[in-house]
Amino acid sequence: MSSELGQSITEHADGAVGPHLPPLSEVLDQCRGRLYRRLSELISLEQLCRQAGDWVSTRTEALIDVDDYRLPVVSICIGEPTKARCCLLLTGGIHGVERIGTQVLLAWLESVIERCRWDSHWRQQFQEDVAIVALPIVNPGGMLKDWRSNPRHVDLNRHAPINAEDKVPFLVGGQRLWRKLPWHRGHFEQEVEAEFLALQNVIDRYSSPQRPMLAVDLHSGFGFRDHLWIPYAYRREPIEDIGSYMALKLLWERNFPHHNYAFGPQSMHYLSHGDMWDYFHRRGTQQGHTLLPLTLEMGSWLWVKKHPRQLFSFAGLFNPTVPHRHARVLRSHLVLLDFLLAAIRNPDSWIVSGERDRHMQQIAQTLWYRNLP
Ligand SMILES: [Zn+2]
Repeated sequence: MSSELGQSITEHADGAVGPHLPPLSEVLDQCRGRLYRRLSELISLEQLCRQAGDWVSTRTEALIDVDDYRLPVVSICIGEPTKARCCLLLTGGIHGVERIGTQVLLAWLESVIERCRWDSHWRQQFQEDVAIVALPIVNPGGMLKDWRSNPRHVDLNRHAPINAEDKVPFLVGGQRLWRKLPWHRGHFEQEVEAEFLALQNVIDRYSSPQRPMLAVDLHSGFGFRDHLWIPYAYRREPIEDIGSYMALKLLWERNFPHHNYAFGPQSMHYLSHGDMWDYFHRRGTQQGHTLLPLTLEMGSWLWVKKHPRQLFSFAGLFNPTVPHRHARVLRSHLVLLDFLLAAIRNPDSWIVSGERDRHMQQIAQTLWYRNLP
């Protein structure tokens, strides 16, 4: 392994699910110089792992061939997710053009790792209480090309084998008309996309009936404000775990009453086919696992409104381009992510059952679902 940049990178020891591929540094040795301009996020990710030393372990989950590059889908762990009591799973860059999600995630991981160096209480939680598993760039080929889809023109978040039960917006909800149009679903039944499979392997490796997992998937591009979306995308009726989601929302609002997120079901905005988190949640439930996904959808229309010239750059529709705004976005989600880490570390505070679950379900029903037929 090359260590010319300083410290070496620790690899995951646990290998149960997924292929054995060369480590991150070895993969990047082939193309590091060329990536600085086109995919600096991957370089930042490698640097973060080097600087973290033993705090972080990494694994190459898949290799994606695009143009003359071979790009890794990398997972990183803080703590030991096969032993921890609970797990926070974080994903970014599922849509390659939404770089800001990856950048926010890397900024938070950096602060988590930095705090491990001096705060013994903070560090202790990763001994056995909780583990963080992050895939900051799920779709490196799409990000290299500044595409929403992966290099094979498949929208990874329309790819899962689930059809919406109601009308979806034309094209945007997922389509199989033409591969080169955005939102193409691909053909899961014939060939599962490598990036999708990589994420599924990570979930399978670290899921267990005894280990609740909260997943946060970072996106950008929808609306004027930041949304925290509760599944499902395929139907309007509430998800089975809506009581726990409601309890989580109330816990968040009691602690941060002045927050500015719109926290509610995605189905209130639009439905779509093939949502990966619908699929992973339902699959987890069938296996007796608790996997509760959330999507953080950072509203980019405000960035565009304040800086209309962004309209002329495709990436500008999904990412803040003015430096002070970019910095503001990087810092504005740190509190939320800290909170979600604390929340999954204390699952009994909000993962509800029995009478409390019924009570929370009623509140959710009144707040979000009273107009359902
Ligand atoms: Zn997205």
